[in-house]
Amino acid sequence: MNRYESTTVWNAVDAYFTTRLTPEDAALVAARESGSETTMPNAEVAPNQGAFLGLLAQIAGARRVLEFGTLAGYSTIWFARAVGADGQVVTLELEDQNAEIARANFVRAGLEDRIDVRVGPAAQSAQQLIADQVAPFDLVFIDADKPNNPVYLDAALALTKPGAVIIIDNVVRNGAVTDEDSDDSRVQGVRTVTRDIAIRPDLDATALQTVGVKGWDGLIIARRR
Ligand code: SAM
Repeated sequence: MNRYESTTVWNAVDAYFTTRLTPEDAALVAARESGSETTMPNAEVAPNQGAFLGLLAQIAGARRVLEFGTLAGYSTIWFARAVGADGQVVTLELEDQNAEIARANFVRAGLEDRIDVRVGPAAQSAQQLIADQVAPFDLVFIDADKPNNPVYLDAALALTKPGAVIIIDNVVRNGAVTDEDSDDSRVQGVRTVTRDIAIRPDLDATALQTVGVKGWDGLIIARRR
């Protein structure tokens, strides 16, 4: 199969399962479509990936989720539904424009009471959470600027306890992750955070490649011992 044929089949398979297993309601459709008004159109997770993240949060029994990178709040909505009415999602976003769009999506979804959007560089927002000694998070989703992945991992470790789940998105990057000499700082951000995870004895982790409407990519899933 050539690249065009592969993409067509991947998209069809995503559509097959998404329509049957994880159909989006109006609030999710609106959040996904509003991504086109953000500073990074089309950068949200795919519907089946959002559903997967929500399931992971439920499987982990997560009540508190921390997210690096809000965009229009699409993945945030999946997490906010997963944590339930007593849960909370704190989501960190650099751009005012995106945060404003996300907040409107949270209101539309009726979830604004359980989502705290913090605007500014995520490294600083996370340091503030650490300084404020907030309650530990059960699950952390790292999906912001990829060069800062190692910084976000450190913050995630400071903000969680044993048993917590840490997920890092976009770690395959069309296979570029294997290029140790890559001059792409996003690739190096993935490689460095992979090394950081590998050398920590208190983290169990694996990486999975994904294909589908978002192309060829993947995620790391880690759990604190
Ligand atoms: N998690 C979102 C979803 O799946 O719906 C997608 C997030 S998008 C891939 C990355 C987001 O990170 C963008 O909204 C971008 O503005 C934000 N971002 C980039 N650099 C950042 C930084 N230094 N601090 C906080 N957010 C940042």
